[in-house]
Amino acid sequence: MSKNIAIDGPAGAGKSTIAKQLAKDLGYIYVDTGAMYRAMGLYFTSKQIDPQDGDKISEAAKDAVVSLSYVDGMQHVLLNGKDVTGEIRTEEAGKMASATSGYPAVREHLTNLQKELAARENVVMDGRDIGTCVLPNADLKVYLTASSEVRGKRRYKELVEKGVEADLDVIIEDIEKRDAADMNREVSPLRQAEDALLLDSSELTIDQVVETMKDMCKRKGLLS
Ligand code: C5P
Repeated sequence: MSKNIAIDGPAGAGKSTIAKQLAKDLGYIYVDTGAMYRAMGLYFTSKQIDPQDGDKISEAAKDAVVSLSYVDGMQHVLLNGKDVTGEIRTEEAGKMASATSGYPAVREHLTNLQKELAARENVVMDGRDIGTCVLPNADLKVYLTASSEVRGKRRYKELVEKGVEADLDVIIEDIEKRDAADMNREVSPLRQAEDALLLDSSELTIDQVVETMKDMCKRKGLLS
């Protein structure tokens, strides 16, 4: 039986940084499910489909085949066979992903793929509904969060370091809007699974969060 670790939480909580490091230390595969919703979003943008138009989105979702491949342990996301790993990392793609991830037609295709992968491989999978919907029997579930101010500041720092002009207030506002959309949607809303451990990273460094998670893994017998 493969071992599965589920990490959920709001945008910018540090899920991918932490999950990547944890996967490396455990020798598991890291699965970034947000990247899959972003790839779907990219497809709708390329077809100039209005995210509010549920019928068109559901129809178009059938033509967007998202798949994952791993090169040197790094996840690559393919959209209809094309590698879009770099293209999906924009604020725009994040917003489009959030605006379209509530449609059942979009979720079905991606959650099936995620379940198949986790059944085959030891994974650390991060997203919004991993502990609640995708992997209800995961060996460890963590809900990783931080205040919106802290998440906004981290994102701001990341953008400035990349040389991208950014406005902290706008970033925090965007983060809060995305949280609200993800938490209040009807299908698979973001919430802490009943059996998930809560970890607030507001006052912690990356290393401290990884160490805390490793302690959780030890307690679950996933790490000696
Ligand atoms: O994590 P990331 O910011 O890349 O996710 C982009 C968007 O994809 C989220 O705001 C959310 O709406 C959606 N998503 C989701 N379920 C997941 C992962 C991401 O609905 N498991």
